[in-house]
Amino acid sequence: MIAPRIEVDLAKIRHNTRYLVDRLTSRGISVTAVTKAVCGHPGIAQAMLDGGAVELGESRLRNVERLRQAGITAPIALIRTPMASQTDQVVLCCDTSYNTEIEVIARLGAAARRNGSVHNIVLMVEMGDMRDGILPENLQGVAAQVRALPGVALTGIGANYACLGGAVPDAAGMAGFSAIARETAAACGPCMDTVSGGNSANLPWALGHGPKGCINNLRLGEAILLGVEPVSGDQIDGLHTDAFTLIAEVIEAKVKPGPTALRPAPDQVQPVRSIVAIGKQDTDISGLALPEGITCLGATSDHMVVQTTAARLRVGGEVRFLMNYSALMRAMAAPDIAAVMVGDTPPRERDTASCDGPRLALA
Ligand SMILES: *Cc1c(COP(=O)(O)O)cnc(C)c1O
Repeated sequence: MIAPRIEVDLAKIRHNTRYLVDRLTSRGISVTAVTKAVCGHPGIAQAMLDGGAVELGESRLRNVERLRQAGITAPIALIRTPMASQTDQVVLCCDTSYNTEIEVIARLGAAARRNGSVHNIVLMVEMGDMRDGILPENLQGVAAQVRALPGVALTGIGANYACLGGAVPDAAGMAGFSAIARETAAACGPCMDTVSGGNSANLPWALGHGPKGCINNLRLGEAILLGVEPVSGDQIDGLHTDAFTLIAEVIEAKVKPGPTALRPAPDQVQPVRSIVAIGKQDTDISGLALPEGITCLGATSDHMVVQTTAARLRVGGEVRFLMNYSALMRAMAAPDIAAVMVGDTPPRERDTASCDGPRLALA
């Protein structure tokens, strides 16, 4: 088979989405499924929609265009504030965008008017992560300006946590964000259809027993794709962590004694060094989990050198890796890695996750 490749189990993606959607729906929270780590792959996006996501979230316009070209008609939100240079395309293919700059919003409004449409605006609020966001003290002013602009409709506010500054969403922070949503609605009228509380890092809070306030949406990528909570890295109970497998081919396998000082005694097991045809240009090598008995000795742009003691790898054979988020994101964007869909059976009512390792139990 073609190598390197990523095997994507769509049934597991669908299961992970359904599992989270079911639990969050009972808390009054909808799910926007974030496709940026898979470059807007239409098959994966469809599995997320089949699993109950009400909207897709993307950070790059090119990925949104890929989704639209594949015939996906579901609502799509651009979750990175748009580039002023792309506003014409944004209103054509995104229903909604997350914004922090009034100049850009004004351009979106003008573009939407030329297009005969109305573009939805969610204002991103800075809640301590110090990435994108409007400072809470300025939010009301910006919201009023947006409401006065033609071509755009203010439809909500969003917060983002644990991305850059690492601010972790806790009960107090989320209550603060709810209060901001209430104040904005009081000042601006009913414009808070979407109160999007954050990303996968918000799941321990969202699925806990505390009050959810007026938060009614989360934007989830990593939890759906990899079944883990990003801050702790723990597996989320009930979710598959192996929906994606990276497979690469062995191109060399030899016993290489190396410098005399480092050679094992002749009576010891001679480790076999093998080279796998994958490198730093393809993925984040440090984010790969190797199979038992194989250790990574190092990698260059195109080679990964591994050592085995037990079973010997053979030339032409394959090695399978699980990936963390950083490895997944880069591998999905690598032009030399094919994405192959597997497990594309019709959705089942109840698939059960079988996973090992530490788990995060979400009530
Ligand atoms: C990437 C991103 C998300 C999704 O984050 P995960 O940790 O993958 O769930 C949500 N919102 C914004 C604004 C993002 O950039």
